[in-house]
Amino acid sequence: MRTLRVADLEAKPGEKVSGFVHIIGAEFGIPVTLICGEKEGETVLISGGVHNAEYVGIQAAMQLADELDPKKIAGNIIVIRLMNRTGFEHRTMSLTYEDGKNLNRVFPGNPNGTLSDRIAYTVVTEFFPKADYYVDLHCGDGFEGLVSYVYCTGAATPEVAAKSREMAEIAHVDYLVTSMCGTGGAYNYAGSMGIPSILLERGHSSRWCEDLVAEDVHDVKNILRHLRILRGKSHIHGKPPIEVSPVIYEDAPVSGCWYPAKQPGETFKEGEVLGRICDYFGRELFVYRAQMGGIILYQTISLCIMKDTPMVSYGTWDEDTQGKIEVGCEVCGNEKHKHGHHHHKSEEKHHKRHEYHKHPEDK
Ligand SMILES: [Zn+2]
Repeated sequence: MRTLRVADLEAKPGEKVSGFVHIIGAEFGIPVTLICGEKEGETVLISGGVHNAEYVGIQAAMQLADELDPKKIAGNIIVIRLMNRTGFEHRTMSLTYEDGKNLNRVFPGNPNGTLSDRIAYTVVTEFFPKADYYVDLHCGDGFEGLVSYVYCTGAATPEVAAKSREMAEIAHVDYLVTSMCGTGGAYNYAGSMGIPSILLERGHSSRWCEDLVAEDVHDVKNILRHLRILRGKSHIHGKPPIEVSPVIYEDAPVSGCWYPAKQPGETFKEGEVLGRICDYFGRELFVYRAQMGGIILYQTISLCIMKDTPMVSYGTWDEDTQGKIEVGCEVCGNEKHKHGHHHHKSEEKHHKRHEYHKHPEDK
């Protein structure tokens, strides 16, 4: 009989099985749910908590694992509910507790390395070979502000890159970035292994709320419907995300106090100041000016900034093909209502691009 198996966990058609998958060379396991559909089909891997303080993605992964019904599935769904478990349990900011590494920089990992390398190695050897598609759920960490956007992998064959993009375009987010990086990140490496992969960013500052989680769950279910793995029709909301390219990722050249000049989602012209780094006496150590006009995708928002860590990331877009980026809410003109900075149900209801449409199949 057809079964879905990952390490010691096994699910038969129509079954949902949850448990821990042992990390090779470590003393613990990570929480995983296997959903083996009643009907045959392809397999999707979903993960939360590659970065352990990105709670929107973690809660969304857990909710998807709980809600998805094997009776409505043709194929399989594997959910890693929380990949960086020890970081979560020690509340480190998205770094592995034991080795201080960023798990999303060490893929494909190494069985003889430190814990981060071993987690990555376990995911690459036990999970990736089972997956036909991969969706990795992230959010802004405690020190990060960001707009909602989606990465798709471009460091892959043309077919894999096209399929990744197709999945990304379904996400109801503001922007889309094609990554040309093939290692380091979980979804990047999966892409280079031939698995169409995306990374979804929603929420910021390690904050989470039910509305943002519901948007993630909604997007992933829509992708599953589009792939014909979840029963029902996928539906696209208005215009697809705006493709931002090229994207500049700037690290801080010195440590100090960081004063960003813009907000995530704010647009600017070439040469405008995007932020300053000062010492404890207010003396300016560094001023960063935009190398091109564009829009802020994410930036550090903590007062503390450390040398060689991310400072600001921004990109530009082609206005002729992608259209204008409206600054502020198109309904009330309030800047604050844009880009998910503001999540109170009553106030967000009127905000069209972020409105959450419940699909009849959602429950
Ligand atoms: Zn992340």
